[in-house]
Amino acid sequence: MRALCLLLLTLLVACASEPRELTQLSFGQTTQETTTETDEPTCEVVFTPDAEILAETQDAAARWSAATGCDIRVGEGGIVVRVVADRMLTPQGTEAHGHTYCPTEGCTRSGLVIDIARDHAPATIAHEMGHALASSTAHVEDDTQALMFHTGGDGAILSPDLVLVCTTLDCSVMTTEA
Ligand SMILES: [Zn+2]
Repeated sequence: MRALCLLLLTLLVACASEPRELTQLSFGQTTQETTTETDEPTCEVVFTPDAEILAETQDAAARWSAATGCDIRVGEGGIVVRVVADRMLTPQGTEAHGHTYCPTEGCTRSGLVIDIARDHAPATIAHEMGHALASSTAHVEDDTQALMFHTGGDGAILSPDLVLVCTTLDCSVMTTEA
């Protein structure tokens, strides 16, 4: 079943429509792709946001839950999502609205931390959440509309986003938002 879904999604990606205008915003892009060690494949991930971004984080979690069929939710003791005052700079010197990283030397998914700039873009939290779910800093390379394109795309969860995230998350469905 998974193989069939991936095949169908691959075909959908191949049929992707015309390019659109890009935003120049970047989301914590790094020069090297890093992948976090993962525990057993899981379909349950908890995020613990600052109160200031609680509603936005709940909304993003609900969207990823619907898209993956997993239990992505806000609760205690999960992946920390912090509000920081300033935008960050990527290693390339461009501005980033969010950054997902391992604060220690090596950590599993639950040990990740997400920094969100206070004046972040609408897609930022869902995009950074995607990095945490994928346990990877990798981006979608070939679909500029995808949420996990380094700019955040058009903000919707598309087929290539699910292919990326469901590599390490044990998705039960792959339901796109557009
Ligand atoms: Zn990113």
